[in-house]
Amino acid sequence: MAEIRIENLRKEFGAFSAVEDSSFVVRDGEFLALLGPSGCGKTTTLRMIAGLELPTSGKIFLGGEDVTFNRARERDIAFVFQLFALYPHMNVRKNIGFPLLAQGVAKAEIRARVEETAKLLQIDHILDRSVSGLAGGDRQRVALGRAIVRRPKCFLMDEPLGTLDAEFRDLMVRELRELHNRIRATTVYVTHDQLEAMAMADKIAVMNHGIIEQFGTPQEIYNRPATMYVADFIGSPPMNFLRFTGGLQKGARSVIVDGVDISVPEIHLDLAESELALGVRPEDISFSDVSPLRGAVFGSEYHGTNQIVAVEMGKGLVKARVPADQNFRIGETVGLELNYDRLSLFDCKSGRAVP
Ligand code: ATP
Repeated sequence: MAEIRIENLRKEFGAFSAVEDSSFVVRDGEFLALLGPSGCGKTTTLRMIAGLELPTSGKIFLGGEDVTFNRARERDIAFVFQLFALYPHMNVRKNIGFPLLAQGVAKAEIRARVEETAKLLQIDHILDRSVSGLAGGDRQRVALGRAIVRRPKCFLMDEPLGTLDAEFRDLMVRELRELHNRIRATTVYVTHDQLEAMAMADKIAVMNHGIIEQFGTPQEIYNRPATMYVADFIGSPPMNFLRFTGGLQKGARSVIVDGVDISVPEIHLDLAESELALGVRPEDISFSDVSPLRGAVFGSEYHGTNQIVAVEMGKGLVKARVPADQNFRIGETVGLELNYDRLSLFDCKSGRAVP
């Protein structure tokens, strides 16, 4: 069992709190993405799990064992950094086998495990090549091979694809996920890229200023964002917020935005007069001649199979993803239909979703 559990983990650097009271569980074999903008505490969380940083308070368990005060090398974890540094004077075989050599593993076993690892990564045909002449993808695979050859309990990866260009990144995202499907090692993966997290992870922890705003599957995070921050961070373009002021009674089934009555799924609690926002994803808005929710087309962005149309409504812009062949003119007034089943409601003051 290589479950990772963190309980009320905190890290302060002087008066600055980098990670605040984080708790989560990564189950054995699961892939967790720690997602958030630069400086939100992802790397600090990862370094605490690795044993490279001591928490100010809280606990870390690996496979049920409290390792909070264990040294990094006692944790049986592989840490993969952003930059894959290979030994340029060694061939692929020696690079992959190096961690085993350093552990004093017998030569015959090193040979067998290096070959098994290379097969898994489909680089067994280049084992005797020098790493200095390798293309980028093969270099990354060799670096991954070096990390997995030890068969660690868990992988911790800090933006391993950060420096790659977009096309190559897509390829490596697929390869990393396939590798995970084959070896099922518990993985925590740090990224600021929501698409990368959505494509690879079983679970995502969205972080903001040292706090985990939401922990859930990619589907939960996308479809049921717990906060406006999460709704805004995930999705491209992000969720629209139609703001309005009002009080709502338990059982209410509609809200009034810009003077228009909009049907919403049943509200489950009384809300005092407050600043609220209806959240709707661009793909959940369509054009409708009969809708009373109206605005003027401000601009559009063509995406081949669809287009993103910005419509001026009230004080802001609402973005709708509509079919590429939908016709309109800039400045034309259009009606917007919202997909009732997919609406979210937020309290703007707390930023939290209203149940
Ligand atoms: P990035 O993607 O930029 O690395 P991150 O989400 O991984 O961002 P962290 O590296 O965990 O963020 O840093 C969180 C905050 O803690 C940042 O404001 C950073 O400046 C601060 N911090 C990190 N390490 C230290 C340190 N050793 N001393 C003081 N402050 C630190």
